[in-house]
Amino acid sequence: MERFFAETLGEKRFRAHQIMKWIHHRYVTDFNDMTDLGKALRAKLEAHAEVRVPQVQFEKPSTDGTHKWLLAMDGKNAIETVFIPDKGRGTLCVSSQVGCALNCQFCSTATQGFNRNLSTAEIIGQVWVAARHLGNIPHKQRKLTNVVMMGMGEPLMNFDNVVRAMSIMRDDLGYGLANKRVTLSTAGVVPMIDKLGEVSDVSLAVSLHAPTDALRTELVPLNKKYPIAQLMESCVRYAERKRGASVTFEYTLMKDVNDQPQHARDLVRLMRDFDNRLQMKDAAKVNLIPFNPFPGTRFARPDDAAIRRFQKLLNESGRIAPVRRTRGDDIDAACGQLKGQVADRTRRQAEHLKRLDAQGGSGADAAA
Ligand code: SF4
Repeated sequence: MERFFAETLGEKRFRAHQIMKWIHHRYVTDFNDMTDLGKALRAKLEAHAEVRVPQVQFEKPSTDGTHKWLLAMDGKNAIETVFIPDKGRGTLCVSSQVGCALNCQFCSTATQGFNRNLSTAEIIGQVWVAARHLGNIPHKQRKLTNVVMMGMGEPLMNFDNVVRAMSIMRDDLGYGLANKRVTLSTAGVVPMIDKLGEVSDVSLAVSLHAPTDALRTELVPLNKKYPIAQLMESCVRYAERKRGASVTFEYTLMKDVNDQPQHARDLVRLMRDFDNRLQMKDAAKVNLIPFNPFPGTRFARPDDAAIRRFQKLLNESGRIAPVRRTRGDDIDAACGQLKGQVADRTRRQAEHLKRLDAQGGSGADAAA
């Protein structure tokens, strides 16, 4: 932005700072309303630039305070963004791609296939829409305290745009969030975890979901390319490089699939190895997420007793493993349920609809 002002407009670089504040602190998008800019500069800006924000196609509040937006990204595609308020914090779950090229078996987004990466503007635009809705004023009236890159898409497959958007989230001229309050969640794109470690200090969350390669490959096909040992090594390197940056392992519990005592014991061993490598107690944090069903899925949520049994085994090994409370499931905004409108370039969406029809479910409803 500074370069644009200096090189394209022939203006002082600090003008870029003013524009950033108008857009991200005051949510003003019309140059004519940016009153500390002179008339001539405003005219120049009109001629050379525009502030284009995502169009809200649909928005829905949940009874539990969660809020979901469907945002149009272009004529054909739309993505979902979810705000989850909790005691003392407000977390925004942001999408990085239209659909997802990976094919995690328990994920609703995966059934829609993939269209394209989101631009930096389309990613930070989601934060803008939510922050404006909430009346968030960075540094003063903070309603949006955390951002998690856990919406639609694999953020590390859209590396440059995601890193740039996360910089705006953390910049004082943007949303001013501390590094640890921005979390990138990945299914385990090992080389990109290393690359992220070189350029960013954000918190890392890894979608583990299974403690053995055989099971993980079935649930997260990317595991075939980057098996657990390689993934854990890259997480160790990330944590070593970024002392203080936390690594959280996400484990979605699916009934009779990965919720058995042996799975818990294997997971404990994996987490202990991670701690040992870092010579740090509790370096590996574990989040347990009871599976959130969606139409056509073959998985089910374990009953409460099975969830408690799994958690107890982790607790007995000395590890705190909170069970993530399901939020926004009445508006299909819970973890793993996000679905936008994807002009699919793969055959996955068509196959999913065919499966739904065969099951007697409404493929038309799912497509809508
Ligand atoms: S869980 Fe994440 S990485 Fe896997 S298919 Fe869904 S959106 Fe993609």
